[in-house]
Amino acid sequence: MQIKIFNTLSKEIEEFKPIKKEYVSIYSCGPTVYNYAHIGNMRSFLFADLLYRVLKTVGDYDIKWVMNITDIDDKTIRDSNPKNGNWLDAMKKSSNDPFENIRNFTEFYIDSFIDDIQKVGIDTNNIFEFPRATDHIEEMIELIKLIYNNGYAYIADNNVYFNVSKWKEYKQYGRLKKIDFDNFKKGVRIDADEYEREEVSDFVLWKNKKEEEPFWDFELDGNKLSGRPGWHLECSAMEKKFFDLPFDIHTGGIDLQFPHHEDEIAQSHAGYGIDPTVYWCHCEFLEVEGKKMSKSYGNYYTIRDLEEKGFDTLDIRFSIISQHYRTKYNFTFDGITAASKGRKRVQDFIYSLLNQSEGDEDCDVNALKEKIYSNLANDLHTPKALAEIFTFINSNKNKLFNNKSKNELLELFKELNNIFNIWEFEIKSESIPSEIIKLAEDRVEAKKNKNYSLADELRNKIIELGYSIKDTKESYELTKD
Ligand SMILES: [Zn+2]
Repeated sequence: MQIKIFNTLSKEIEEFKPIKKEYVSIYSCGPTVYNYAHIGNMRSFLFADLLYRVLKTVGDYDIKWVMNITDIDDKTIRDSNPKNGNWLDAMKKSSNDPFENIRNFTEFYIDSFIDDIQKVGIDTNNIFEFPRATDHIEEMIELIKLIYNNGYAYIADNNVYFNVSKWKEYKQYGRLKKIDFDNFKKGVRIDADEYEREEVSDFVLWKNKKEEEPFWDFELDGNKLSGRPGWHLECSAMEKKFFDLPFDIHTGGIDLQFPHHEDEIAQSHAGYGIDPTVYWCHCEFLEVEGKKMSKSYGNYYTIRDLEEKGFDTLDIRFSIISQHYRTKYNFTFDGITAASKGRKRVQDFIYSLLNQSEGDEDCDVNALKEKIYSNLANDLHTPKALAEIFTFINSNKNKLFNNKSKNELLELFKELNNIFNIWEFEIKSESIPSEIIKLAEDRVEAKKNKNYSLADELRNKIIELGYSIKDTKESYELTKD
């Protein structure tokens, strides 16, 4: 089915047309690994995952998806220094080599990140590679040389800066978000990796080394430069490494539009002579109880925090992807509970299909599929797609379908689960209440003791409570009637 997606460049929903026949290329700005990812970050990764799954399942594309890992920037350097705040207790083996410290420190948060995204149902096997910035310094240096040789960078105090005013004479700067150039002061420079929109000025490509920072050396125009790359540079260099330019889709949170993505466009074009990507796709912010999430408001949550509070991480997934990605998502505990109920309603319907004996109801599964898929294909409109699913379940939950319809429905829900990834299709013993399992275990014991009347009594009790028990070679099998 034809997929349509909102492109931040055109500010319109566009028909998606892949560049290559073989596969669609997606690049997602990944985490900065100086802490556990919070649920706001998670929304952006869940959006990329949803886009991947809709393109694959509804659009029938093969996909190459790359997500970088920012393991060097202002924050990772700050917190990997054992003298600073966030150095982990578990990592007291700090060395004198800042490079070793940053690798050890970020390694811990990379592992945590992979764990967390798996918990919210992102299949990391779908991600072709998670390249780390510190493994691609050479590529970044090459890009700096290209930009410099093309005349869009200059050296000042052993730093290399991108010359925004020079670039503006050639190409637009401010393509993703309108930029107010009234405050722009030619030649004013920003060294920070992150800055506000009001602070438009020349941004740093290479930072001169500071004490206790990891650094690399290279030569540019006769100058020996010791330092490290600026944050924006890594994405431009990684995209070139993993894809032919331009590649298809670049994803990220809306907060990355400026400066990160704007600078990425400028760097890639100034260096490689071509725009990096065709479709820029951004997801909106996540708020908590209607407020910006912030440690100072006490409403800052990681996946781990929510697990400790007893929430199921797949309910968090469902809650976040149920909301359209271009609207603000308001995270509340009630919202997760509601999502959990909704998820269970669909799960119960799937179980009832799996369990039901043949009836004579017929169902036009293709028409249902068409309605659900057309909403997903239209800019990933999950709320409308889910509304179709719930409307169908509400009016069909007590029907007994003929085998053809039942099998087609199960097939459809399995396909939908390739997108939502929150339901199961085998009745596992976990879904049998523990009291029933206890009765079954007692029966095994009774049989072992040759107390067959007690065994029969226990079997009858199990049946009375709505379950069937079947003896198998190894033990027994319980099913809900
Ligand atoms: Zn990036």
